[in-house]
Amino acid sequence: MDLKLIDIHTHVNFNAFRDDGDEVMRRTLAGGVGMILVGSQYDTSARAIEYAERYPEAAWAAIGLHPIHVGGEIHVDAEEISTSGVPGFSSRPEEFDYKKYKTLAMHPKTVAIGECGLDYFRSGGTQVEREKQFEVLRGHIKLAREVQKPLIIHCRNAYDDLHKILIEEHAGEVGGTIHFFAGTWSDAQKFLDLGFGLSFTGVITFARDYDETVKNMPLDRIMVETDAPYVAPVPYRGRRNEPLYVEEIAKKVAELRGISFDEVAKATVSNASRIFHLK
Ligand SMILES: [Zn+2]
Repeated sequence: MDLKLIDIHTHVNFNAFRDDGDEVMRRTLAGGVGMILVGSQYDTSARAIEYAERYPEAAWAAIGLHPIHVGGEIHVDAEEISTSGVPGFSSRPEEFDYKKYKTLAMHPKTVAIGECGLDYFRSGGTQVEREKQFEVLRGHIKLAREVQKPLIIHCRNAYDDLHKILIEEHAGEVGGTIHFFAGTWSDAQKFLDLGFGLSFTGVITFARDYDETVKNMPLDRIMVETDAPYVAPVPYRGRRNEPLYVEEIAKKVAELRGISFDEVAKATVSNASRIFHLK
């Protein structure tokens, strides 16, 4: 299938799409947009695989345990969520069961391990919480290396610790992406040096903090994603985000880099296909 764009990080497998997920999948594929459906817990990871099986021509799955679900229960009602017309939610604490996740990881439709990582923005306030996040992240990297699939990394306010762990665990061996990249250009270069790609969300359509990285980074490492249902890009702010809107993010990348939309579309599809071995 010839894809116009690939949304490399989306959550049609989440409850925000419970009533119309299949409709959203169909209109996304009809628009020529492929996607990686990303799990954040065991159940949403399993559901990502179910969707990917149902739409095998242009949907793939990533499986993992998000760092906000590894500690005690926290209520998440951040700005990027409430402005998407999606209500806040409470995290559901879960133990990382390596064996159970390995079964999901080995599924042929699973192309990446994640989202996993570190989050000091919503959790990780204490050293105990941080240690727990480190341990679960290390488990995911081990799994990724065992099944030889790349990583989809979530990171909020923890780029230095993340970088250290990626090196210690030899994550560069499998690579992947630092999703929703929100660090500085100097942070970005450290992850690029490890061989990782970086992916950008709708945030780049309304915040100017990432312009330098979007402009400077090599074109063969950049990818686009919606993180739907969260952070809808301009002009859809305040609504539930969906994978088709990834086009707005690619348009912004083109504008910032001073190249054509087609060039961005071609590069990001080829990067995603190569990094995640999509077929
Ligand atoms: Zn996500």
